[in-house]
Amino acid sequence: MLDRMNAGLPTSILVLEANLAPTKRNRVRTRLEELGLDVRFVDGGAHPYFELTGEDPALRTLAPESWPGVVQLVTLGSPHPHASRAAGEDELSTPTWVTLDPVVESDAGVSIGPGSFAYLAGPCAVEDAEVTLRLARAVAEAGATGFRAGAFKPRTSPYAFQGLEREGLAILREVRAEIGLPVVTEVLDVRDIEAVAEVADVLQVGSRSMQNYALLKELGRTRHPVLLKRGFAASYEEFLLAAEYILSAGNERVVLCERGVRTTSGSVLDLGAVPELRRRSHLPVVIDPSHGSGQRHRVLPLARAAAAVGADGVLVEVHDRPERALSDGQQAIDPAAFTQLIRECNAVRAALEGDGDGVGRRPDAEEDQPAGVGKDDR
Ligand code: PEP
Ligand code: MN
Repeated sequence: MLDRMNAGLPTSILVLEANLAPTKRNRVRTRLEELGLDVRFVDGGAHPYFELTGEDPALRTLAPESWPGVVQLVTLGSPHPHASRAAGEDELSTPTWVTLDPVVESDAGVSIGPGSFAYLAGPCAVEDAEVTLRLARAVAEAGATGFRAGAFKPRTSPYAFQGLEREGLAILREVRAEIGLPVVTEVLDVRDIEAVAEVADVLQVGSRSMQNYALLKELGRTRHPVLLKRGFAASYEEFLLAAEYILSAGNERVVLCERGVRTTSGSVLDLGAVPELRRRSHLPVVIDPSHGSGQRHRVLPLARAAAAVGADGVLVEVHDRPERALSDGQQAIDPAAFTQLIRECNAVRAALEGDGDGVGRRPDAEEDQPAGVGKDDR
């Protein structure tokens, strides 16, 4: 950062709203100049911005993203340039779509990204073929976007059910062939990547593996989309740096998943992660209200909140006989509740889209609030 300044290079850029009126733009410029920064306007068409040169550590604490007309402050020389909102120093990225299909290069097919809402659902673990197929059919019928179940389970106790492992992968292959939904499943060990990638469309990295850097590097060499869960004690920065391992190794398809942080009284879902990660990154963000709460009765309300807070989807554990589930039965909702969850999340999204602005709108935008929504109501 200081090197850039000494070299006379811009140290950050402040992205402005497209078509921002010159008077509003000048108001922003004046505030920046008052901080002693050198300001240069770049008319980037859909992405106009100010290039800022100079050192002003106070700028970020002033939260310029909340100023009228400002979209985002991007500090150049980010520690995670691929995961950051700006793809590079010269190029501003738009939010990324991630296709849930390793063989489709385009955005065709099932994707997660702006303006859509994914429902990834299934039992915690792959169970026998009959149960797994039955549950896959049930979530597909309810309207799931993808089927999710783990063949390799990271368990606290070495004596607990570890997943059906390779046998589970064979069951997932059957399910995928019959149901046709993209399959999301966890990979725990570098040595299993190839086998898991053969049957999965999306490779999940669990919370406990978020800092398994050898695994992340290797996943960066695959073309499979990766659903990266936040470590339950990881900071946002550590989370984005984990994503950076995958992205910087050449795999551009990473979906972030917020799954709650651990406290002495159980899991607490950090819904604020969505606007925060939106501000910092172009990657899609989904919410896991199941592991984020650990209790069935909290799943539906938290899923509604995920839709309201602007997430790109939810990951939900579903079981029709939770008392017999091989893992996480206490947080599984049944297929009827899952159908209701989809209906209610869609209703929340439709209500938010009613103002024509979409759920992806920045929660910190001061202007253009829909009538009757004041700052205190948000
Ligand atoms: C899971 O998704 O089944 C799981 C074990 O979640 P987490 O890694 O978030 O604990
Ligand atoms: Mn689980």
